[in-house]
Amino acid sequence: MPVYAGLEMGGTKTIAVLGEPGAIRERVEFPTKSPEVTLARAADIIAGWHEQEPILALGVASFGPVRLSPQSPDYGTILDTPKPGWRGTSVLGALKAGFAGPMAIDTDVNAAALAEFELGAGRNADALVYITIGTGVGGGVLIDGKALHGQLHPEIGHMRLRRDPTDSFAGVCPYHGACIEGLISGPAIHARFGIPPGDVRPDDPRWVPVASDLAELLANLLLALSPDKIVVGGGVTMRQPHLLRSAIARLPERLGGYLGTVDAAALQTRIVLPQLGDDAGPNGSLCLARSCTERAIRSGDNSHRSPGPPSR
Ligand code: ZN
Repeated sequence: MPVYAGLEMGGTKTIAVLGEPGAIRERVEFPTKSPEVTLARAADIIAGWHEQEPILALGVASFGPVRLSPQSPDYGTILDTPKPGWRGTSVLGALKAGFAGPMAIDTDVNAAALAEFELGAGRNADALVYITIGTGVGGGVLIDGKALHGQLHPEIGHMRLRRDPTDSFAGVCPYHGACIEGLISGPAIHARFGIPPGDVRPDDPRWVPVASDLAELLANLLLALSPDKIVVGGGVTMRQPHLLRSAIARLPERLGGYLGTVDAAALQTRIVLPQLGDDAGPNGSLCLARSCTERAIRSGDNSHRSPGPPSR
């Protein structure tokens, strides 16, 4: 059985996995600290696995913004993040200390989208959007199973949308205040309600503007990308599932009768919770690793067969 390594780097937690998509054999979780500490630990784990059994490729699902163009000199580098110490960190460069074989990197949300497309709620969706509502709000887009990158990668969480006119919350995004992340992420809900999002009662009326903002985001995604599926995950969504239902219920009115066949029942099957839950990211990193090997095979490059020992 081919064996791949994957790394999901989140804002607070990093997960290293070994196996193949849908069949994780080993899993190690540790806190995301400084880049030096975090990436050295990841490189050590991967080197240890590689010594026991040659790994074909490594896939990295990273928080962003991160440079994704392989032609760029700073490919695999974290860009302008507010996360202390990480700006300018070459993730792939640091991981080469543990693994000298083929590597691929994408955003954590694109990787989660890939896993849901291959194994979960997004199967057979030619156009798939994955949204996460948690520490931040992020969005990944897959067209025919291929992640949309463009100049950088989509930054759906920082869109600024029409708001509920009765809602005066200023928002918490350090860049934009009341972008969608600034309005409905976990920290935003904590700031709105004064308690962690998981502790707010589902029938609290203060959810109304949050559901309204999410409905606005979903309406704009339906109009902009015509997705077959929108998968909405993340800690806030999973712990407060009424939020997604409430947003979907608002959508027909929000679309104003446009997209004629769209009614709430149809939308409930088109806009769904993830099936892989917390395993979407780690499985996505393994999907990235596998696609890296498949690309090498297609291009006739045999280096994937024997990545060689770690270069330490
Ligand atoms: Zn923002």
